[in-house]
Amino acid sequence: MDASAASFATRVLGWYQRYGRRSLPWQRQNAYRVWLSEIMLQQTQVATVIPYYQNFITRFPNIKSLAEASIDDVLQHWQGLGYYARARNLHKTAQIIRDRHGGRFPRTIDAVEALPGIGRSTAGAILSFAFAQSWPILDGNVKRVLARCFRVQGWYGQSATMQQLWYLSESVTPGENTADFNQAMMDIGSMVCVKSRPKCEICPLKKFCGSYIHHSQALFPQKKPVKAKPHKTTLMLLHRHGEQVLLWRRPPSGIWGGLWSLPEVDDEDAIKLWQQSFLSMSHPPGTIQENAIRHQFTHYSLDISIAIIELERLPRKISDSDNYLWVDIDALENHGLPTPVRKLFASLQE
Ligand code: SF4
Repeated sequence: MDASAASFATRVLGWYQRYGRRSLPWQRQNAYRVWLSEIMLQQTQVATVIPYYQNFITRFPNIKSLAEASIDDVLQHWQGLGYYARARNLHKTAQIIRDRHGGRFPRTIDAVEALPGIGRSTAGAILSFAFAQSWPILDGNVKRVLARCFRVQGWYGQSATMQQLWYLSESVTPGENTADFNQAMMDIGSMVCVKSRPKCEICPLKKFCGSYIHHSQALFPQKKPVKAKPHKTTLMLLHRHGEQVLLWRRPPSGIWGGLWSLPEVDDEDAIKLWQQSFLSMSHPPGTIQENAIRHQFTHYSLDISIAIIELERLPRKISDSDNYLWVDIDALENHGLPTPVRKLFASLQE
């Protein structure tokens, strides 16, 4: 550990002596209790966990009693905490410890990480709290503190970012007093370096904190970038004859499959060709309303322009006539139309 990492740890430990949480019911307890608390705390706040923890410990005071219980009994004592996979893994793990580890909680990082429901951070927490070993942790609170202090680039879903965070956690974790240090880092994350409006003025790390020094707390941890949706455009053709409009039935698959809509072309230049192909005639559009409606799909947005074409006479025949229909404007509601097309007609009627 270099001098600045040592001084980082000294400040964290000093803060812990004065302000840290030191009387939680699972602190300075055996590995079974520490493990149970770590699993309960994975998705849940401390205040919520405490009564569940005490109730669970009363019913299942040790690994043996948990391993021998029925899964229904375990789940019943978990009821209300949510994320029930955690309870199933606890039960399974208790049986593995009974059957393969002689009923004693394993003491090596590899053996602990191999147990169901225990990742690297939870394994580090259990071994440091229960056996005073020196292992780094990286729960949500610690990640946030480190990401802000060291202005870590990237978001948690990126492996390079996680590698850097693990590297930083390893670098600042001291070889001694690791339990207090790990608890302190979690406490600083949950009490001081909170998600919004971190309390930097009272933070023991402000001297080391790049985000504090550069006034960039709000930029870290970096968020997953929101991808701009691709943008598409289409031009719908509204052929009118008196009070009738020409609808087109869309193909059965694809967007708005099987619904009645309006024929579409890419741009104004394609109108004539479309009319010649399907109506055996051509008629210029009276007006084109650009981007009359914007519709959001999950993966893209669609700007719909509309060309309004008033026909003096009906075309003699329509190619692909099964999929075209002249409909009275008043009867449009009797046909299944996609929402944006329905909106388009409503806006035109206004
Ligand atoms: S100084 Fe502020 S941003 Fe930096 S670790 Fe402390 S609370 Fe978090």
